Amino acid sequence: MSISQRKVRVRFAPSPTGGLHLGGVRTVLYNYLFAKKNGGEFILRIEDTDQTRFVEGAEQYIYDCLAWCGLEPDESPKHGGNYGPYRQSERKVTYKKYAEELISKGHAYYAFDTTEELEKMRIAFKTESNPSPQYDATIRKSMKNSLTLSPDEVNNLLQSGTPYVVRIKMPENETISFVDMIHEEVSFDSNVVDDKVLLKADGMPTYHLAVVVDDYLMKITHAFRGEEWLSSAPVHVLLWKYLFGLDNMPQWAHLPLILGPSGKLSKRDGAKYGFPVFAMNWTDPRNNEFTEGFKEKGFLPEAFVNLLAMLGWNSGTEQELFSLEELVQHFSIERVHKSGAKFDYEKAKWFNHEWIKNSSADQLFDGVKNVLSSKGISQIEEDYLKQVIELVKERCTLVSDFFEQSAYFFRTPESIDVDALKPKWNEQKRLFFEQYCLHLQQLNDWNVSEIESTFKNLATEMAIKPGELQLPMRIMLVGGKFGPAVFDIAFHIGKENTINRIHSAIPKIETP
Ligand code: GLU
Repeated sequence: MSISQRKVRVRFAPSPTGGLHLGGVRTVLYNYLFAKKNGGEFILRIEDTDQTRFVEGAEQYIYDCLAWCGLEPDESPKHGGNYGPYRQSERKVTYKKYAEELISKGHAYYAFDTTEELEKMRIAFKTESNPSPQYDATIRKSMKNSLTLSPDEVNNLLQSGTPYVVRIKMPENETISFVDMIHEEVSFDSNVVDDKVLLKADGMPTYHLAVVVDDYLMKITHAFRGEEWLSSAPVHVLLWKYLFGLDNMPQWAHLPLILGPSGKLSKRDGAKYGFPVFAMNWTDPRNNEFTEGFKEKGFLPEAFVNLLAMLGWNSGTEQELFSLEELVQHFSIERVHKSGAKFDYEKAKWFNHEWIKNSSADQLFDGVKNVLSSKGISQIEEDYLKQVIELVKERCTLVSDFFEQSAYFFRTPESIDVDALKPKWNEQKRLFFEQYCLHLQQLNDWNVSEIESTFKNLATEMAIKPGELQLPMRIMLVGGKFGPAVFDIAFHIGKENTINRIHSAIPKIETP
């Protein structure tokens, strides 16, 4: 059965070595969208064959990020599935036989060189035009491997337990080509690719062997991965050809880089320019280095997913806001861009603002509640908070902005911007507010229209323009020149708080 007739199966195959960069989440997303659009399955495989890079907590962090984004795998070490184990370190025994098959077919060989011998080689073959010589078709002829040693010597070394690695034998003078779903036909000159290690001295495969064997055994049909893997593709293509046949090889889609202010977007850019680069907060347990995440910065997962989708893909229409379901419907490989996408933090915030505005108070409730309680505002009545969310959400770009935009609904502002009031303050205004408080006190029905009409009638009676009184009232209630309609605020904080805040503000304004 040709690959196009098989059930679509894609995979995200991270090495759990640290935080998940937004480029990594975009890779997950495009795999996911492609799979779901085509009625297929999305697999998460943990590529942890490099035991020296093991990082505590990194695998769990990946699950947490995917769950936050709503990109749950169909199969993974955690979710199970019929093609497990999904952690490469648990598949060690599987790979060796493929390495041996390659050797017996003449496409790979044992190499017994020690670290010192490899170092000597690098010095001996170093030239100005080739400053870092690689173990390749030329150099392998001078090294200690099963191509240069006699079969007896090789057997003796193997029998005596001499450490070895298995390397691919790159063919000479061949063009290795494949059709990438994004870049179309891609070709490599085999002479510039080195004899990559396939099996390490500890018996673990390297990424190159493991990725090919697992993609085959897990019946992967398509794979989106970052463009940084394009240079490894010729090795993978050859391994497919030698082991499983090119007809079975997944169709590759190498995604263009996400660019920052200076080249590939890095976590250093994030720290330098003050924007998150990882999906969620990550603290490296090895050195306690902290990197901020989109989640904790105050992004909604819907907005994060939406903005990532647009970093390298467009719908071909004016529409920019897409839910995950809509993305599944609209996603098409033809519209994935070939060149790098520039990450623009201002645009990212625009997406978030749009999503906050379009979300209901119910959807925003948990996030806002957490933000407020982390700042000491807890014991909040659910309905009241929902009303406040509706009132202020237009003004919040990040979920974290809800604190500044709504704290005064829950507690008296610590300070008020008296400097903004002093220049235009006068006796008449003071009288107005004193009278207004008396009127408010008498109101039987505390509602927005009564609060407002009382204000306006009194202003007319005292021949003051209501417009000149609204800003002082706002600053007295809120602390600054912001917030929704001032009578809405008064209504929500209640009669007592409104009157108290006005009373306590007056002497502050009048203090010289
Ligand atoms: N383990 C590789 C990584 O860490 C996977 C690359 C691929 O998708 O083939 O990104």
